[in-house]
Amino acid sequence: MSDAMVAARESRTANGTAQQVDVAVVGAGFSGLYLLHRLRKAGFTTVALEEAGDVGGTWYWNRYPGARCDIQTIDYSYSFDPELDKAWTWSEKYATQPEILRYLGFVADRYDLRRDIRFKTKVTEARWDEASERWQLTTDNGPPVSCRHYIMATGCLSAPKPPEIDGVKDFKGEVYFTGRWPHDGVNLAGKRVAVIGTGSSAIQSIPLIAEQAAHLTVFQRTPNFALPAHNGPPPADRKELFESDRAAYREQARQSMAGVPYPQQTVVSWQLSDAERRERFERAWAAGDLVHILTQLWADQAVDVDGNRIVQDLIREKIRAAVNDPETAAALMPDDHPFGAKRPCLDTNYYATYNRPNVTLVNLRQEPIKAITASGITTARRNVDVDVIVFATGFDAMTGAIRAVHPITGRGGRSLTDVWAQGPQSYLGLTVEGFPNFFMITGPGSPSVLSNMAVSIEQHVDWVVDRLAALRDAGFTTIEPTATAQAGWNRHMADCSMVTLHRLANTWYTGANVPGKVQGLMPYTGGVGPYRSICDEVTSRGMLGFKLTGPNVAAQCNDGEVVRLQPDVRLVLNLLASLNLPPIESMGAQGACAFVNEFNKGRPAGRPIGEIVDGTLPGPDGPLPYRVYKPATSGPHPVVVYFHGGGWVLGDEQSDEPFCRDMVRRTGMMFVSVGYRHAPEHRFPTAAEDGYAATRWIAEHAAELGGKPGPVLVAGWSAGGNIAAVTCQLARDRGGPDIAGQLLICPVTDCSFDRPSYNDNAAGYFLTRGLMYWFWDLYCSPADRTDPRVSPLRGKVEKLPPAFVTTCEFDPLRDEGIAYAEAMSAAGVPVEQLKAHGHFHSSFTMVDVVITGVSGRVQMAQALRRFAGLPEVSRGEPGPGFKIAAAAS
Ligand code: NAP
Repeated sequence: MSDAMVAARESRTANGTAQQVDVAVVGAGFSGLYLLHRLRKAGFTTVALEEAGDVGGTWYWNRYPGARCDIQTIDYSYSFDPELDKAWTWSEKYATQPEILRYLGFVADRYDLRRDIRFKTKVTEARWDEASERWQLTTDNGPPVSCRHYIMATGCLSAPKPPEIDGVKDFKGEVYFTGRWPHDGVNLAGKRVAVIGTGSSAIQSIPLIAEQAAHLTVFQRTPNFALPAHNGPPPADRKELFESDRAAYREQARQSMAGVPYPQQTVVSWQLSDAERRERFERAWAAGDLVHILTQLWADQAVDVDGNRIVQDLIREKIRAAVNDPETAAALMPDDHPFGAKRPCLDTNYYATYNRPNVTLVNLRQEPIKAITASGITTARRNVDVDVIVFATGFDAMTGAIRAVHPITGRGGRSLTDVWAQGPQSYLGLTVEGFPNFFMITGPGSPSVLSNMAVSIEQHVDWVVDRLAALRDAGFTTIEPTATAQAGWNRHMADCSMVTLHRLANTWYTGANVPGKVQGLMPYTGGVGPYRSICDEVTSRGMLGFKLTGPNVAAQCNDGEVVRLQPDVRLVLNLLASLNLPPIESMGAQGACAFVNEFNKGRPAGRPIGEIVDGTLPGPDGPLPYRVYKPATSGPHPVVVYFHGGGWVLGDEQSDEPFCRDMVRRTGMMFVSVGYRHAPEHRFPTAAEDGYAATRWIAEHAAELGGKPGPVLVAGWSAGGNIAAVTCQLARDRGGPDIAGQLLICPVTDCSFDRPSYNDNAAGYFLTRGLMYWFWDLYCSPADRTDPRVSPLRGKVEKLPPAFVTTCEFDPLRDEGIAYAEAMSAAGVPVEQLKAHGHFHSSFTMVDVVITGVSGRVQMAQALRRFAGLPEVSRGEPGPGFKIAAAAS
């Protein structure tokens, strides 16, 4: 009997007899409403259980003065039905809470959703019943519910945080919470009001409360960045863009990073002049749009502390100009977190409100609240008597509402609270291992609060309902993620979080706002578009990472991790794949060189350094070009002789320029990149002999080049790593020069192609096995290949300079690099290894493109400094007035 038939038979239940449905949804906000609509259309029987008296979710509860959305309302709307889109017109750029609530009521009516919603009904407990393979939900009102699938559509910011301040109960005046504002409104006229908190809710309500109250005292613990909303009618240009092609507009939003159709910025801050940066900033400030200012200034603003600090400084300037009293202005200026790492706010007259005579700011960093008393609030410095206290203290975000159903008991009697004791674990932010047929909409692990929720909600709901329908049609009755898939997702989450600056702030994104909550970045930071494509990939790869069972079908489990690459590496490889380039080896040597030169022109040029000087040095058969990269600090600096990559065939002394510049900045050392000769014109051993001769000459002429005389260091990437390794062996065997250390990045070390990495990574990661065969064939005849001057792994590896060897997981050359490191180590050479997970052959040289390569380059730079006897650079001192300890730049 189908679930639907069971439901039809038992739909009229008396209190106590479980209501039987295919799918139970908790919540009737944006997510719950759309779920009901989709589930119904897909033929599932459904009930939504909603604690509130009507639809609306967060918009039902958050009725404080000034409550509005802060994503432009055109974007903060459903897009699933073009007719609905046309049937509703928003009156303002940022709609008020009552208008949004009317919209959700309109949607509920239009699709007749209320008939399947049980209002004023809270789910108090949920239990997976192994025998019936159904969830049993207990409620505080009306019958329990038995359902095949249980979906939490409870929102991310719906469980208000308790006040956590001693004495609240003693207070004799009125107490309100912004997140549970009385429906009849509150009369604050003539009253002395305290607002605790300066997050989005406070920043929206403070200007309006100040207009009514006799006196308003704001208790601020952490200042926030706030930008003027410039509210009014929907901006004409945006409206026009939307109305000219609604479908394209919506689609662009779905593929974007934040769920709003803005393009990806490619220009980085240091490529712009001060005037250009200011011009961009002023335009963003005037636009009054959070997503605009968070994404459109320059590409590095959200991933690099230096790029971010420029934005902060410009905003602090605005705050200084808006607030008359310098002490108050200073207190209002955030200085403990990067812009965007904590949720910034949109305001209307927020900063100017502090110029009113009836408004006082209390800086809790200087005078913490000691207690709330019968008459008001006592800080370390004063008593403030008030009639009303407004707690704008926020939410137990992302997990609070889910864990409010307690316990949620999954397979084997395990409760979700226990499983999440060390922080939320999930697969795709949608499902949890051990909790079959359980789904979360915008749960921890999904982009949710870092995106336009409307877009994310629709994506989640569509994915879940489409999957449920497909499973049903295939005869499956349970779906559950595997431990492998979940662990993989958690690792991918961690990888993504290293790209952004969110980890550098204490926020509700990380759980830091709730005392005792386990801390960790909860939303997925990889972006809405990439997230969507990952979910689609799970489906197209046969429900990768899910176990499916059914009574009359064989169980299916296509186990695995959906993303093993670093997030930015995935984007780069997807982009390259979408270009459908012919294989490089099919272009011929000349064509390939031209292609690589053209390709390099499109990349960021690299950050400014002290000086770049070109020259030639005497090679074995004539002059060889070189390029010197000097630090901005005064020298002389230790010298690193660098060999570029390109399979002994491609590239030149300038082709790894962004990498050389980056390493010069990080090491404070001088790099001399050598233009050694290439195959096919100059075959083995030319490149090796040129490399050795150049190193010898550079060591002898270090002072003339502006470097420090004495031992040099060698470094190289790919075939350049091969030349660096060979140079060290030759220098040992031929009586010099003195080499203090070697940095080998994804080096070629051997002519054997049978190591696993050659097979595992044969195709799809840019450097292919086919391309390596081609390089080898052009450079070296089979008879010569075991010569240590091209296969240093076959040479003597004793008594070599200390080495740092970097290898990448998705590189055909991975295993030979590791083998060389291990061989040197076994021979007594001090060796450090970086085995970079999720990276590909070009990860570390694609500076400013593969951001996740930064930490690896930091390690490489530290190693070079150690080899040169220089002290360790202390990282992460972003400058005065900025207290963040770590650094991502
Ligand atoms: P919030 O951003 O978490 O802000 C809470 C404020 O209360 C913070 O300033 C916090 O200080 C302070 N606070 C918390 N506990 C405190 C204590 N014990 N003593 C003193 N101060 C305390 O909460 P929210 O303003 O309600 O906003 C939450 C999120 O909801 C927003 O970030 C946004 O995503 C969403 N929201 C959106 C809108 C909208 O416009 N659409 C409006 C409101 C909210 P610390 O920072 O030091 O913890």
